[in-house]
Amino acid sequence: MSCGNHHDTACGEVLDHLYEYLDNEMGEGDCAKLKQHFDECSPCLAQYGLEQAIKALVKRSCCDTAPSDLRGKVLARIEQIRAGVPVQGDLVGDDPVGAGAAPAEAESR
Ligand SMILES: [Zn+2]
Ligand SMILES: [Zn+2]
Repeated sequence: MSCGNHHDTACGEVLDHLYEYLDNEMGEGDCAKLKQHFDECSPCLAQYGLEQAIKALVKRSCCDTAPSDLRGKVLARIEQIRAGVPVQGDLVGDDPVGAGAAPAEAESR
């Protein structure tokens, strides 16, 4: 689970801290380290189908709360990765964020 390059923050460490990152429980320094890793190392995220999802989340500031649907998907994916379940496809690419939400909103009115 590495792209072969050296990073200050190891790829495994990034996965370990993604929960905290999504929950805004990280200090600014740690948050910056993860962001740096996302910039340097898209291969490891792409491998898990998390690249697009993380990029969408990183666009928001660390102080913003992640969109709950996307956050939930990312957390579920991390659970799969940790459980050793083979993951395929990109979270966002396979199921564009917002595409599924619009009809549900319309129905609830
Ligand atoms: Zn890497
Ligand atoms: Zn990495």
